[in-house]
Amino acid sequence: MTPDHGELLYEGKAKRVYASTQSDCVLVEFKNDATAFNAQKKAQLDDKGRLNCQISARLFEHLEAAGVPTHYVGLAADTWMLVKKVEIIPLEVVLRNIAAGSLCRETPITPGTPIDPALLDLYYKDDALGDPLLTQARVRLLAVVNDQRLSAIEQLARRVNALLLPFFRSIELQLVDFKLELGLTSSGELLLADEISPDTCRLWDCKTMNAEDRILDKDRFRQDLGGVMQAYGEVLKRVQASTCNPRNCM
Ligand code: UDP
Repeated sequence: MTPDHGELLYEGKAKRVYASTQSDCVLVEFKNDATAFNAQKKAQLDDKGRLNCQISARLFEHLEAAGVPTHYVGLAADTWMLVKKVEIIPLEVVLRNIAAGSLCRETPITPGTPIDPALLDLYYKDDALGDPLLTQARVRLLAVVNDQRLSAIEQLARRVNALLLPFFRSIELQLVDFKLELGLTSSGELLLADEISPDTCRLWDCKTMNAEDRILDKDRFRQDLGGVMQAYGEVLKRVQASTCNPRNCM
């Protein structure tokens, strides 16, 4: 089903953004396109759009219930989400609870090393530049955001991590790392935006110790492990079955 929508405003690698009938909201359509390694690897994965849309919706609902301001308004169809219109801040905020991925490629840290408190890395959101890692000095130099806004972003991101860790633990998933994007409304309110899904999180199944079998996220696609959509389907099943709410889930 396709909800009533206005003109296409933006098309990214995994989503399309359309105008909606509400002037302060937009409709996001989650696509089946999968990309990795800065879009050098591409594929169509049947049902990915629905799985990521539904997983993101449940996670945004959980965060909203805990008082985190997000762009999420509601689901409009299986692969469509109504969200508040924001201007995306060109920063990718990555939280790392366990060492994996680029952290282990770029430093001598052994994969699987626990990181507590979580490491917060900032990347400049620019495909042409390959989303480079930033330093605080570079954030200042580029004037992406001012110091006050940066500290609000870091606080929000750490709060999200502190809520998602027990949420995933309650459904026997280990939140290894994840990427967040934030946006500003026309009135200047800072909101969590984009998506939170197996495309943007590393999630390991606590029910198995096998290093390949436990991967339930986009690493299955990156590493050609197969069973990508089965893994995303398992994440959706557990996320939907979760009875965790911010008051009983710590
Ligand atoms: N990530 C993302 N989009 C990006 C880069 C990273 O969603 O453009 C997510 C990625 O899925 C992982 C986390 O951010 O959960 C950390 O990614 P990392 O820096 O380790 O890079 P990768 O190993 O994916 O190249």
